[in-house]
Amino acid sequence: MEPESGPDSPSSAGKRAGRLYVVGLGPGSRDLMVPAARDALEKASHIIGYETYVRLAGPFRSDQQLHGSDNRVELDRAAHAFALAAQGEDVAIVSSGDPGVFAMASAVLEALDNATDDRWRRVDLVIVPGVTAAQSVAMRAGAPLGHDFCIISLSDNLKPWEVIEKRLSLAAQADFVIGLYNPISKARPWQLGRAFQLLLETRAPQTPVILGRDIDRDGETLTVTSLGEVHPKQVDMRTCVIVGSSATRLIKRADGGVWVYTPRFYSLNPDPHQG
Ligand code: SAH
Repeated sequence: MEPESGPDSPSSAGKRAGRLYVVGLGPGSRDLMVPAARDALEKASHIIGYETYVRLAGPFRSDQQLHGSDNRVELDRAAHAFALAAQGEDVAIVSSGDPGVFAMASAVLEALDNATDDRWRRVDLVIVPGVTAAQSVAMRAGAPLGHDFCIISLSDNLKPWEVIEKRLSLAAQADFVIGLYNPISKARPWQLGRAFQLLLETRAPQTPVILGRDIDRDGETLTVTSLGEVHPKQVDMRTCVIVGSSATRLIKRADGGVWVYTPRFYSLNPDPHQG
């Protein structure tokens, strides 16, 4: 951890505990950041997070201190934030999307759960939500999340791959729309292909699949394909994948594209044209 004391830093003695905001930045642009998040970013004297997200959260004033760090040190970051807030500082710790979805809010609460410093428990903790990746992909594609859905991270860094396979299979059997986060990386090259294979065991090849990459950021792309045609090469870590349920449908758009939606109703024969 970086030392926080400097010539200008206030003494920690006798000060109230500070506030720790855990802020969701949304998918990318300031437009899709909730007003409470903008407010928190203004009020905080310290901004902590993965460098890319700290940059995304800006611009900041010269009196605000930025603490960018590597992506894989969530618990250190949380401890750093608590240490500052316990001294009376107001701190914002930032995540992309929603901080409660595969992101910093859980890391912050894990740190609090294991805290040995009682001052951490007096920190005024505020979680500020954000538009999560699946929602931002959905808003571009239409309404694929219009009925029951689930979100699964394909990363096996923090859970065994067997658990992921089990969840995929059961979610497919239960006919959920499935959002896949952290779909593929250099260290995890084959898992996404295996996931598609598992889903194809219960779901038809024509099931719509949406690939949203860098949504609401520069270079955004949206691809609508199908479970039978999608290839893991079309996907990277900056992509969120949504796999439709048996009820998910396409509508042709006047501009040549398609809308993807999942109807609100569901029957044992989910195709309204057959029932
Ligand atoms: N807290 C974040 C998710 C972090 S996990 C949220 O709520 O959105 C990181 C994964 O989120 C990425 O691998 C990708 O699958 C997805 N993701 C995050 N931002 C995205 C964006 N702008 N466009 C598409 N997918 C995104």
